[in-house]
Amino acid sequence: MGRGLKIELARVYGFCPGVRRAVRMVEEHLAREGPLATLGAIVHNSHVVEALQEKGARVARTVSEVKEPTVAITAHGAGQEVYAEIEKRGLKLVDTTCPIVKRAQEAARRLAEEDYTVLIYGEEAHPEVRGMLSWTKGKGYATLSPGELPELSARKLAVISQTTKDREAFWGFVRDVIARFHPLLGDLRVVDTTCPETGRRYQAALELAAHVQAIFVVGSRNSANTRKLAETCRKTGVATYFIESAEEIDPAWVAGLSRVGVTAGASTPDEVIDQVIARLSELGGD
Ligand code: SF4
Repeated sequence: MGRGLKIELARVYGFCPGVRRAVRMVEEHLAREGPLATLGAIVHNSHVVEALQEKGARVARTVSEVKEPTVAITAHGAGQEVYAEIEKRGLKLVDTTCPIVKRAQEAARRLAEEDYTVLIYGEEAHPEVRGMLSWTKGKGYATLSPGELPELSARKLAVISQTTKDREAFWGFVRDVIARFHPLLGDLRVVDTTCPETGRRYQAALELAAHVQAIFVVGSRNSANTRKLAETCRKTGVATYFIESAEEIDPAWVAGLSRVGVTAGASTPDEVIDQVIARLSELGGD
């Protein structure tokens, strides 16, 4: 294949600071003190999970499944009952909860203690949201649409967000909450707990998509933020290839092209991105 294919990277891509920190904390523990169990995958990326497994980090679904002396809570955080169970079992804890998620949990806990009914803009089944709900001690609801909430008699409402949600969409949700509940409302608190990292990746991908002929989005298919990143690129009309690894690249995808872009979700490790760039270079990149 001829040379001359320009490969451009998005301005922001790959591991966010929270995920990078979580992986580093687990790796440091493995090197220093040996095996541990993580409560769920430390990051939604099979490459990272398998590499950590080889070093002694086993994935457990619940605290009761943990056989190792140490357990790690992931960057998504966990509910108060999980901390209580870890303490009850006398396990050592490596808490990799992202500081931005911690801040959202703290807001949920404080607002519930101040007697607000806490509405979380997010997916109820998502581990981060389940954790946040737990910190409201039964005074919270999670939904993507206020229309799905039951009738609420609370005069004090608070609204927070799953951290990875789009900031504009969060404020749209707040407007919908006001529209539905304003006849009863006496006091409304809004704490913007969205994380800027995901939005920065979408914005950078859009900028890249505007001047390349094809874009490669690298990451696990089970990573919600990577799927959304691919969707964002696709919507611009640019040819978008959502790949998990370099091996998936079909040479026909870049045949005749002069400029392609590469971006990656917040859970995609550097090595996988480097392999994709190396493969594209082999296929004609500069
Ligand atoms: S996306 Fe934001 S909130 Fe989530 S782990 Fe990364 S830095 Fe933390």
